[in-house]
Amino acid sequence: MEKPKNTVTMQFKSIPENVSLARVLVASVAAQLDMTISDLEELKVAVSEAVSNAIIHGYENNPEKTVELEIISFDEELIITVTDYGVGIADVKQALQPAFTTDNERMGLGFVFIQSFMDKLEVESKPNQGTKVIMSKSLGFRPES
Ligand code: ATP
Ligand code: MG
Repeated sequence: MEKPKNTVTMQFKSIPENVSLARVLVASVAAQLDMTISDLEELKVAVSEAVSNAIIHGYENNPEKTVELEIISFDEELIITVTDYGVGIADVKQALQPAFTTDNERMGLGFVFIQSFMDKLEVESKPNQGTKVIMSKSLGFRPES
């Protein structure tokens, strides 16, 4: 694999205030790349959803836990990983279904946004061990879809 142009990692407490911190960090790394405004907006939404999920579901709103964010940029791809060491997901396939939620107050649309705004999504999760959400966005030219 080609060498990354940039690698940035951040760890932060699992408090909702840090969702915007994650957004800002991703946006500033992405701004160094050839990216359209709409790509940038989509990235920010995807990162917000993944970080919110880590805090709300992974850590069940316990503010004393740590969320990890890793951003790796290449000329043609940006890879973002959000990791928590929380409750994990028993059935990832089910969790990815539109409108699936374990919290009736929610819409179950976070993963839908991530899937539609990013070009790739991988979710690795084990009950009681945690969840890793790896998403990537292709940059530069791509055919209209
Ligand atoms: P919304 O994102 O619309 O507020 P939601 O968070 O329930 O609702 P998704 O983000 O699509 O919807 O997530 C679907 C389900 O996957 C969640 O309800 C939760 O059960 C599970 N889930 C998602 N992320 C995690 C995580 N990091 N740890 C544990 N469970 C998770
Ligand atoms: Mg969500």
